[in-house]
Amino acid sequence: MPSMSIPFSNNPNVLLPPRTTTTTTSLSVFNEKQQTDNWNGLKFIRGKKLLKDLTTWGIGGPCNYFLQVSDQTQLISAIRYCHEHSIRYIIIGKGSNCLFDDLGFDGCVILNRIEFFERKEAGMYRVGSGFRFNRLGIHCSNQGFTGLEFAGAIPATVGGATYMNAGANAQEIGDVIDSVDVVTVQGKLQRLQKNDLNFGYRSSTFQDMKDLAAIVVVTFQLQESGSARTKQKECSERRRTTQPLGERTAGSVFRNPLNVGVAAAELIEKAGLKGFRIGGAVVSNVHANFFVNVGNSTSRDMLDLIALVKNKVDQKFGVQLKEEVLYFHPHCTDLD
Ligand SMILES: Cc1cc2nc3c(=O)[nH]c(=O)nc-3n(C[C@H](O)[C@H](O)[C@H](O)COP(=O)(O)OP(=O)(O)OC[C@H]3O[C@@H](n4cnc5c(N)ncnc54)[C@H](O)[C@@H]3O)c2cc1C
Repeated sequence: MPSMSIPFSNNPNVLLPPRTTTTTTSLSVFNEKQQTDNWNGLKFIRGKKLLKDLTTWGIGGPCNYFLQVSDQTQLISAIRYCHEHSIRYIIIGKGSNCLFDDLGFDGCVILNRIEFFERKEAGMYRVGSGFRFNRLGIHCSNQGFTGLEFAGAIPATVGGATYMNAGANAQEIGDVIDSVDVVTVQGKLQRLQKNDLNFGYRSSTFQDMKDLAAIVVVTFQLQESGSARTKQKECSERRRTTQPLGERTAGSVFRNPLNVGVAAAELIEKAGLKGFRIGGAVVSNVHANFFVNVGNSTSRDMLDLIALVKNKVDQKFGVQLKEEVLYFHPHCTDLD
């Protein structure tokens, strides 16, 4: 178990038999030669896929099973496979909000590349959850529709952005979602309409859904706007000057504290922590709420830096910062 208080992902995409009967796969499997398991036309890679290659932070050891899915049928089959074999699993998009452990993940990592894009009518788009969020933001803005201008420089998928209710510049993805198709842990497809969904600051209905396996399709309803294109370009340009784009980060590490009136970045900067380094993990000099893997950060370096910054900000300002990034420890379950 990790030794710090960063919350584990409460992602429910994890299936386990009852705890008493659980025989989790030993992490020693990671040392075995790479194998593939073929099941219903799916090719599971075993034991060698490194999570650091699947995340923007570039941190994380191997996972026991790895599979990339490019359509709904493959995704449902993958979930059934994990279910039938009592394998815990998680689904990831671009891994742009994830911190994996150097020990890796004792289960299956499903990489979502369901990437279709359909225009239903003016301003209404039906999009696969693996579609690139930045591409969607740029496309919709260029077409003269407002609501996703902020997305133009966020390296995420539509599914991950929906799960996190990604937002910036006074916009949030949840504001422009019309419906979401999900697959449940029982492998059933379900459509959730706008009225069934609750979104808050980096929170969504999906984070609390106990039977959620994955978001599969998101339908957006956007309004026309003559200034969308310009606004999108401005948002992206502002990021280029205020964020360490091109470096290995996971965006903002902490949420902005509520009712304090000061952003997390400002508190960290005022605590004198810009440029502070532990091993290969560094508080960015460009944006203090972005922590950079400068090349060889371990998960422990990053966890220690997060804990240190939290403590210093608490000591100095009495503000308890809360993580926005999600930490997946090797044996995380839905009960953690
Ligand atoms: C340079 C940079 C800038 C950023 N700027 C912003 C910003 O302005 N605003 C903001 O909100 N965030 C920002 N982020 C953080 C990050 O991009 C968002 O949190 C994003 O929503 C994560 O999307 P993802 O597809 O990478 O999800 P991942 O990181 O892969 O996953 C995040 C969580 O979503 C779950 N998930 C992913 N896909 C699915 C799915 N299909 N179904 C169910 N669950 C799923 C995962 O299991 C995990 O729990 C930034 C990150 C970077 C690196």
